[in-house]
Amino acid sequence: MSKGNIGVTSDNIFPVIKKFLYSDHEIFLRELVSNAIDATQKLKTLASVSEFKGELGDLTVRVSINKKKGTLTISDRGIGMTAEEIEKYINQIAFSGAEEFLEKYKNDAQAIIGHFGLGFYSSFMVSKKVEIFTQSYTDGSTAQHWSCKGDPEYILDDTIKSDRGTDIVLHIDDENKDFLEESKIQELLTKYCKFLPIEIAFGKKKEWKDGKNVETDEDNIINNTNPAWTRKPADLTDEDYAAFYRELNPMGEDPLFHIHLNVDYPFNLTGILYFPKIKNNIDMQRNKIQLFCNQVYVTDHVENIVPEYLTLLHGVIDSPDIPLNVSRSYLQSDANVKKISSHITKKVADRLADIFKADRRQFEEKWDNLKIFIQYGMLSDEKFYERAEKFAFLKNVDGKYFTFDEYKSLVGENQKDKNGDVIYLYANNSDEQYSYIQHAQDKGYDVLIMDGQLDVHVVSQLEQKFQKTRFVRVDSDVIEKIIQKDDTAKVTLTDDQRDALVTVFDSQIPKVEKTNFIVTFEHLSPAANPVFVTQNEFMRRMKEMSATQGGMMSFYGEMPDSYNLVVNTAHPMIEKLLTDEESACGAEVSPFTNELAQAKAKHDKLKDGHKGKKDEEIPNLEKDELIELNKQMVELGEKKKSVYKTYATGNKQVRQLIDLALLANNMLKGEALANFVKRSVELM
Ligand code: ADP
Repeated sequence: MSKGNIGVTSDNIFPVIKKFLYSDHEIFLRELVSNAIDATQKLKTLASVSEFKGELGDLTVRVSINKKKGTLTISDRGIGMTAEEIEKYINQIAFSGAEEFLEKYKNDAQAIIGHFGLGFYSSFMVSKKVEIFTQSYTDGSTAQHWSCKGDPEYILDDTIKSDRGTDIVLHIDDENKDFLEESKIQELLTKYCKFLPIEIAFGKKKEWKDGKNVETDEDNIINNTNPAWTRKPADLTDEDYAAFYRELNPMGEDPLFHIHLNVDYPFNLTGILYFPKIKNNIDMQRNKIQLFCNQVYVTDHVENIVPEYLTLLHGVIDSPDIPLNVSRSYLQSDANVKKISSHITKKVADRLADIFKADRRQFEEKWDNLKIFIQYGMLSDEKFYERAEKFAFLKNVDGKYFTFDEYKSLVGENQKDKNGDVIYLYANNSDEQYSYIQHAQDKGYDVLIMDGQLDVHVVSQLEQKFQKTRFVRVDSDVIEKIIQKDDTAKVTLTDDQRDALVTVFDSQIPKVEKTNFIVTFEHLSPAANPVFVTQNEFMRRMKEMSATQGGMMSFYGEMPDSYNLVVNTAHPMIEKLLTDEESACGAEVSPFTNELAQAKAKHDKLKDGHKGKKDEEIPNLEKDELIELNKQMVELGEKKKSVYKTYATGNKQVRQLIDLALLANNMLKGEALANFVKRSVELM
């Protein structure tokens, strides 16, 4: 028997392990099981080169709990250790600049453990005492028993052990009793050890028998030793890939397709990435890529290893070149990691391009689900944009898909306006914008559907990329104005007629919360609608952007929505309304109009006389007269307005026209809608 002090320069590492590494306690199990697997694989390697000539036998690594004794044991039948090896590998912990380092990384257990090769010592995070029983595979070696109570003292002793290999026995401390729960250990083994290359048994399989759960003779193997990503793509069928996806995401819907990564230069990387069907909430889908190092689970936070938009993919990446125990900040700056990231981007783009080329129909079928990845990638990564612009689609309201080039040939000439700009029309809701889409299609134009979560941003990006091209939503103006071919017919109303109609319509618009309307006029075809609602493209986009960005942009978000109520002066109903209004209001309004004209004439004459004069040269009497005239003019204007208002209030048709326009835009709600229905019945 020998006693000694564990060779650390720092006086006592154990309190550090226990306290500072608290947050990642559970990884001790990964470390110990990995050691067991390593020892087993070393033995297999020795056997394959005939350095070990004995029977390999059953190599299963076994994890077991003894609740009575309060122990958790990890056993393997690997190479074991001799007394010298324990001395060398367990007792001598290489330590340098310890305090400084510990201070720096005290919140990052992974980094400390990685740095010191403290894998085995992580067991002290949860144990008051750890024992090793080990028998080396070498001929003539004596079994060893090592024991340590979490202080720098250890005991090393000869012992008797019938079987080759190592048992690590953890006497779990009082604060960590949950590691003696079967369900907890099962969970951790599944998380960290699910794809380790040697079978790991945790107890026996259970079976439902005679109304009870009873143990069978069969080992409960918790891992798949031969996961799909470690096999050659040529040996795998589509079903194998689908089955592996289910293994990773038991609840998940079938993915769209997969990418098998297999790189051996300039770094080693294998893995399978899946394009999942994306649901509404993007963020819920993230962090579904698991990072492995030689089949040992490391993390599911791969933000630094794959570009952000690819964090939406699911699957696994395995690389021995990504150090197992590293801090996040280290990952960010690691040159290998950067290379891996750009390699994955390239692979993903290549794979998409291949599918597009080989099977366009399939690509079209999957586009609606795929587009979020592709758009996200195009928006955030210029390199990806360059690759993707050849296979990204635009989809129109009839469900047809076009590449950017194809769409340009389709609309490039037909939708060119008089300034030579090509106008890409789009809708974001083909039901709500139905009538606008119809008008555009009647004119022989094509309308895209842009209803995705990222389409607002895509529209801006494509406008910057394409030359002399603008995207305009179909309902942002009348179609003749959106794509202005030549100077459209002028509105021929006199100022008086214009004022009258503005008042007639303005006074009858029902209140819509947080919304302003401006009455405008267009002289369109008599067959177009008499009245309709449009929303300025620029203002609407600002509001949409502000909804996703905030900051400076939230200024726009606070503003009320501003719509145009467009009156088509060429429509027979509007022409009739105008003559009708003139005969109904003419007699009452004309005295006011005359007075107003007189007042205005006086006002203008006075003003003319003041031209070139300084303020003090103008007699006070004339100044007062001007003020008086102004007041009169305002009052007369109000009187005229009130006549028109009274007329409009009594004219159900005006209300009806406005309501129909609002209804076509899905803006007629609540009381206004009820009034409309009632009035419609009355008018029938
Ligand atoms: P690392 O695994 O990073 O080298 P550890 O502290 O986990 O660091 O282990 C130190 C060494 O102890 C290992 O390299 C190995 O030589 C030896 N060792 C640990 N566990 C076992 C085991 N179950 N069987 C044989 N040797 C082991």
